[in-house]
Amino acid sequence: MRQTFYVNDEGFYGEFGGAYIPEILYSNVENLQREYKKIITDPQFLEAYNRLLVDYVGRPTPLYHAKRLSEKYGCKIYLKREDLNHTGSHKINNAIGQILLAQRMGKTRIIAETGAGQHGVATATVCALMNMECVVYMGALDVQRQHLNVQKMEMLGAKVVPVESGNQTLKDACNEAIRDWCCNPSNTYYIIGSTVGPHPYPDMVARLQSVISKEIKQQLMEKESRDYPDYLVACVGGGSNAAGIIFEYLDDVRVKIVLAEAAGKGVDSGFSAATIHLGKTGIIHGSKTLLMQTDDGQIEEPYSISAGLDYPGIGPMHANMAKQGRSEVLAIDDDTALAFAIELTRLEGIIPALESAHALGVFRQKQFKKEDVIVLCLSGRGDKDMETYLKLRIEN
Ligand SMILES: *Cc1c(COP(=O)(O)O)cnc(C)c1O
Repeated sequence: MRQTFYVNDEGFYGEFGGAYIPEILYSNVENLQREYKKIITDPQFLEAYNRLLVDYVGRPTPLYHAKRLSEKYGCKIYLKREDLNHTGSHKINNAIGQILLAQRMGKTRIIAETGAGQHGVATATVCALMNMECVVYMGALDVQRQHLNVQKMEMLGAKVVPVESGNQTLKDACNEAIRDWCCNPSNTYYIIGSTVGPHPYPDMVARLQSVISKEIKQQLMEKESRDYPDYLVACVGGGSNAAGIIFEYLDDVRVKIVLAEAAGKGVDSGFSAATIHLGKTGIIHGSKTLLMQTDDGQIEEPYSISAGLDYPGIGPMHANMAKQGRSEVLAIDDDTALAFAIELTRLEGIIPALESAHALGVFRQKQFKKEDVIVLCLSGRGDKDMETYLKLRIEN
């Protein structure tokens, strides 16, 4: 049998994935497992989804040949401009899809978790658009780090709940969102922001983000007269922007996949979020995957300068691909990401999100050939990170 990197019928990618959930959520999750594929491939759904992606989000996003960056690194680099989406990142692609799904399932209340606030803003945005009640859980530390996004969510009409447990970041926000869902299973739909959580979320989010690689196929055909690149490059937090750029190429071995996870202050420093390098198999937020944990199975607190990558787990699709050698995963530290954020700004006039700057860090660790065509996912814009960037300039 040919090897595949797509999900199987039981919700597994190799040994990873599945749905490990409290009993009270069984019927919700089973219902979603039964319905999601039918709904998101239904022509009426697709029509509404695609219309909003075009008229509201601003798709297709450009595939931009970054000439000065290409010159510097001796290969042909295209940037997939997800930073140009409404609300500033790829997160909106998924939020639009899931809110349409929630409507079809008759739900009236939306909950979400958020780290940097990009998924929270995307969810609050689609809730305003669809006139739905919206509650966003956010670690108390992230509320401080990302206050502009908190203000946006509140202006959009969402209730932002700061979470005081744990180290007050993304993992803790996920825990609270799951707790809320358990208390309100009948009217509430949980919009998960990445390719994590119990099956079917990882596959569903990947499919809703796959619009990115569908566009890349067409755009490469126009620009390169072939519909595939030599390399795809993306950063991974939970793995949704990466899933989006690779989805159409998962089983196409002509295309090499290079992913960047957050090394924080260094993989071995004790301050990192490099889950694939450091993680061991375990269960987090309903899914069997790699996670950072102590020898007795306690989750280790992750660290990254970038709130969007500050998560101790990784989507099961990516755990499997890394384990099978389908992807090459590099750990990019804070300083490298910051340096590349400034470099891209000066070379191309594009201020990237700190998360996306980790993907650019791949060019420091890896040599490419002159004829290599590389597509890098510029997952978001840097507005939310301006304070960090300005502080760096003052220090230098
Ligand atoms: C949330 C976020 C990420 C990380 O999440 P993934 O699910 O791994 O894509 C990366 N970049 C930006 C701009 C984000 O907002």
